[in-house]
Amino acid sequence: MLTTQQVIIPMKSTLFAIKGNNILCPDGFNKGILLIDGAKIVDFVDQLPVNYEGKIIDAAERIVMPGLIDCHVHINEPGRSHWEGFDTATKAAAAGGITSMVEMPLNATPVTTNRKNFEIKLKAAANKLHVNCGFWGGVVPDNEHELNDLLESGVFGLKAFLTHSGIDDFPNTTASHLRKALLILKKHNKPLLVHCELDEPHHDSHLLEKSPNSYQAYLKSRPKSWENKAVQLMIDLCRETQSAVHLVHISSAEALPLIRAAKLEGLPITAETCPQYLCLFAEMIPDGATQYKCAPPIREKQNNELLWEALKDGTLDFIVTDHSPAPPDIKETSSGNFAKAWGGIAGLQFLLPLIFTAAKERGFTVEQLAKLTSLHVAQFIGMAETKGKLQKGYDADIVCWDQTKSFTVKQDLIHHRHKICPYEGMNLLGVVEQCWVAGELVFDKGNFLHLEQGKILLK
Ligand SMILES: [Zn+2]
Repeated sequence: MLTTQQVIIPMKSTLFAIKGNNILCPDGFNKGILLIDGAKIVDFVDQLPVNYEGKIIDAAERIVMPGLIDCHVHINEPGRSHWEGFDTATKAAAAGGITSMVEMPLNATPVTTNRKNFEIKLKAAANKLHVNCGFWGGVVPDNEHELNDLLESGVFGLKAFLTHSGIDDFPNTTASHLRKALLILKKHNKPLLVHCELDEPHHDSHLLEKSPNSYQAYLKSRPKSWENKAVQLMIDLCRETQSAVHLVHISSAEALPLIRAAKLEGLPITAETCPQYLCLFAEMIPDGATQYKCAPPIREKQNNELLWEALKDGTLDFIVTDHSPAPPDIKETSSGNFAKAWGGIAGLQFLLPLIFTAAKERGFTVEQLAKLTSLHVAQFIGMAETKGKLQKGYDADIVCWDQTKSFTVKQDLIHHRHKICPYEGMNLLGVVEQCWVAGELVFDKGNFLHLEQGKILLK
């Protein structure tokens, strides 16, 4: 990886250098100098070119690695921007070392289920992005005829639900809708992302109604069996159509053997999980603490430890946040009513320290974490030729962070629109110091510098 050849510096140079002892290159950590010109990494060298006059940033022992990519974010703009918006969400992302995200189709009004609505969302996002942002389209029961056009307009793929999405404008689909959608997606070589819960009445269904503030009652209301059945259904549809299926936010460890077997069979299937299922446990959630409500629910510690194993052996491909905030009244913070509260967790900003803190205890290396939060996501969204690696010719989307420093999550640090966050009070290891998007320093030691550097990503 190290090269010593001379770099030809253009007359009017935007060249700068990041020097450090822990730069994560494709072959592992190296000591050296990353050279960046404009939006691109132009080289990695062991010595500065003799005629070099540009800026040098000394990262010293801090980790310099590819910016994180979060392909599961709900931003709510336009139409519900009092919940979350592009400005606040992408600031939180930059402060957390996330340099690109892909946004979900259901929480804005209108929902992203046709080209016209997608164009409205693009307009809403323009000039408000502090990190790069792409978009998923949506499959709903009545938009089959819109899907080709929507896919051609630049969405990365399509998202669907097998249970109520929480948004009435985005109804859930059945196997027959998804079979048709998969065949359309196959022609476009884009994936179908599925929220895997198939709801059916069960013997604990009444518990939440009786005790709406009880976390255990909420947990029992969305059992693992719902998720397992939905995962099995999607594996069957994947096998039948041979079209790419992605299982979002896997929380049930009982679904893991199914996914493992499907991958061994060679099916085009991928799966993700999220920090809330890895770093939080049902046993620690107090009654009435609706900031922990998400769907599927945060399960027991014993279950969640198996998700870590699945990340290690490749059954789960990557970690994304499923950032889905809501205002305090919608989150039922005063009533503590789990039955009524919005099911979504805000945590975009803390992805890296959350995962690092918990993964370190479980023997993961930083190299592994970078793959799970950047490279594998870049591969999944079809951007592995330009993102997910610090390598010559790649985009200069970079995070520099200190693995020896810790901090406590406090409300005044949070850049999300609302400060409700289940991670508040946690002491986390790993402090993001700097974040570059396309070679521009967006976040520097607590301050935002060059804003609006994010690009709209189209596929
Ligand atoms: Zn989601």
